[in-house]
Amino acid sequence: MKQIKCPNCKQWNENVARCTNCNTALVAEELNKEYRQKIEAEDAAKEEGKAFKYFQSLKDSKFLLVRLTYQFLFGIWTVYMFFVAVFTWIIATTVG
Ligand SMILES: [Zn+2]
Repeated sequence: MKQIKCPNCKQWNENVARCTNCNTALVAEELNKEYRQKIEAEDAAKEEGKAFKYFQSLKDSKFLLVRLTYQFLFGIWTVYMFFVAVFTWIIATTVG
């Protein structure tokens, strides 16, 4: 039997990788897993930022077609957001 005291909530745990009380990682493997997940999440966020920057760069493109495509997509997005706002407003005013 292997008992590990949780560094977070001080609860004693038996033969588990994570604290049964607060889900804190208690063994190195779990800590590594957590660390990897954190790194991957950060990388994903970075990729998202890159895509957004790329999209923004389309606006100032030297090609007319690219600029028009941007305006077109931006127009659709604006209309979509407008309908979402109207829809939300209708629901908010009719319910209750
Ligand atoms: Zn704990």
